[in-house]
Amino acid sequence: MAVLKKSTELKNYINGEWVASNGTETLEVPNPATGEVLASVPISTKEDVDQAVKAANEAFKTWKTVPVPKRARILFRYHSLLSERHEELAKLIVEENGKAFKEAYGEVQRGIECVEFASGAPTLIMGESLSGIAEEIDSEMFRYPLGVVGGITPFNFPMMVPLWMFPLAIACGNTFVLKPSERTPLLANKLVELFTQAGAPAGVLNIVHGAHDVVNGLLDHEDVKAISFVGSQPVAKYVYQRAAAEGKRVQALSGAKNHHIVMPDADMEKAAQHIISSTFGSAGQRCMACSAVVVVGDNDKFVNLLKQKADELTIGSGMDEDVLLTPVIRDSHREKVLGYIHKGVEEGASLIRDGRKEMDEIKQGTFLGPTIFDHVTPDMTIAKDEIFAPVLSLLRAEDLDGGLEYIRKSRYGNGATLYSKDAGAVRKFREEADAGMLGINVGVPATMAFFPFSGWKDSFYGDLHVNGKDGVNFFTRKKMITSRFDF
Ligand code: NAD
Repeated sequence: MAVLKKSTELKNYINGEWVASNGTETLEVPNPATGEVLASVPISTKEDVDQAVKAANEAFKTWKTVPVPKRARILFRYHSLLSERHEELAKLIVEENGKAFKEAYGEVQRGIECVEFASGAPTLIMGESLSGIAEEIDSEMFRYPLGVVGGITPFNFPMMVPLWMFPLAIACGNTFVLKPSERTPLLANKLVELFTQAGAPAGVLNIVHGAHDVVNGLLDHEDVKAISFVGSQPVAKYVYQRAAAEGKRVQALSGAKNHHIVMPDADMEKAAQHIISSTFGSAGQRCMACSAVVVVGDNDKFVNLLKQKADELTIGSGMDEDVLLTPVIRDSHREKVLGYIHKGVEEGASLIRDGRKEMDEIKQGTFLGPTIFDHVTPDMTIAKDEIFAPVLSLLRAEDLDGGLEYIRKSRYGNGATLYSKDAGAVRKFREEADAGMLGINVGVPATMAFFPFSGWKDSFYGDLHVNGKDGVNFFTRKKMITSRFDF
C-alpha cells in the first residue's frame, strides 16, 4: 500500500503509485494563519493527465464488473478509516485552509456522510422494472457507469467537495481522476491514501495536481465521460461550456450571493447569532455564507446588534480555542477584497464596521476583520458580486416582497434564509425565493448527502445536482430492456 510521506513537493497518484509530475513549475502551499510553507504542489501537464486518464480507463474495464456490494464494502472500510482519523483530517484542513478547527471537524463529518450515502450503492443503483407493459411483454431498466469521470474542486472545502464526487462516482462503477485545488492540495493526498488502504484497486482513483492545464486536459480528453466541477462562477461557466462542447456530461457548481431576510417578528438575538456565524465563519469563504442581509422595516436596533456582535467576535488561527474569524486563503485574495471595500465606500454605502483595523493589528497571516456596510443598494458592486470574504452588505426593505425582489434580481441563487415566526411569511418565502437551497431560521442551509446540493441561476450550470438521487443519476446511464415472452 502506498503511503504519502509529508514531503516538500507533493506527488500525483496514478495507477496506485505516487509519481512525480512531468511539469517543471511548482507553487508553494502556505498556512494562511502563519505563512509557514507546508509543501509545494506541482503544476502538472497534459501528459500527466493523459497518464492518469489512461490508468483510469484501464481500471474501468475491471472495476465496472466488480459486484456492487463488493464496491460498497470498500466504502464501508473507507468510512471506518476516515472516522478513525477524524481529528487528524480536521487538523490538516486547518493547516492548509485556515478555517477554525470546529468548522474543519464539521467538514470532515460532512465528507464522511457522503461516503455513508455512497455505501448504500446496491440500493441506490437498483433499476426499475414493469411486468406486463403489453401482452406478455416486460420492461426493465438497469444502470451502468459512464467510464472515467474528472473532478475539479475548490480550496474552501478540501475534504467535503472531493467526497461529494468520487465515493459515489466510484460506487456507481466509474473510475476517477481528481484535480484538487492547488491552494489546498494536501488533504486530497490523504484521502486517496486512505482510499487505497480501504482496498480500492490501482487506477480507480487518481490525483493530478495543478491548475489550468490539468483542467483543460480533463475537459478535452475523449476518454473522460463526465466532469464534476465546483468553483467560482467564471470558471464554472467556462468548464460547463467547454466540456459540454466535447459531448461530456457536466455539473458545474458555481459562486453565490446569499441573502438573509430578517422580518420584524424574528427572534433578533438568534437571527443575529446565525448571521454572524454564517457571514464570518470560515472567513466568509463558504458558498452558503450569508453575504447580504435584508433588514425589513425600520430596524436600526438589529443593525446595532449585528455590529456589536461583530465587534465581540474572536479572531485568530484556526487552532485557537473558540475562534470564529480565521484568515482568508491568500494575500492576493485579500487584496481583491480590499478593492471591494474601497469600491463600497466610493459607491456610497456606509461602512459601519471596518475590518481593515484588525488586518493592520495582526501582522502574521492573511487576516481581515469583520466588515459591515449598511444602506447598500442592489445596483452597487458590493451587492452584486460574490466577495467571498468576511464582508457583509445590509440592504433595507419595507416588507417581505422587497426582500424577495432583491433575491430575484441577484444573478446568483445558491441559498437564501428567512428569519421569521410567521407561517404565512415562511410559506411565501418558500414559494417565491429564487434560490436552490433555502433556510428558515437557519444560518447555513447546506443540505445533507442524501439530498441534492446546488443552486439556481448563475450558481449552477448543468441539470443534475451533486449528492442524493441526482448524484446517482449523474454518475450512471440507463439501459432499457424490452422482452417479449410469447414464443
Ligand atoms: P476557483 O474557480 O478559483 O477554482 C476552482 C477550481 O478551478 C480549482 O481546482 C482551480 O485550479 C480551477 N481553476 C481556476 N481557474 C481556472 C481557469 N481559469 N481555468 C481552468 N481551471 C481553473 O474557485 P476557488 O477560489 O478555489 O473556490 C471558491 C469558489 O468556489 C467560490 O466562488 C465559491 O462560491 C465556489 N464554491 C461553490 C460551491 C457550490 O456548491 N456552489 C461550493 C464550494 C465553493
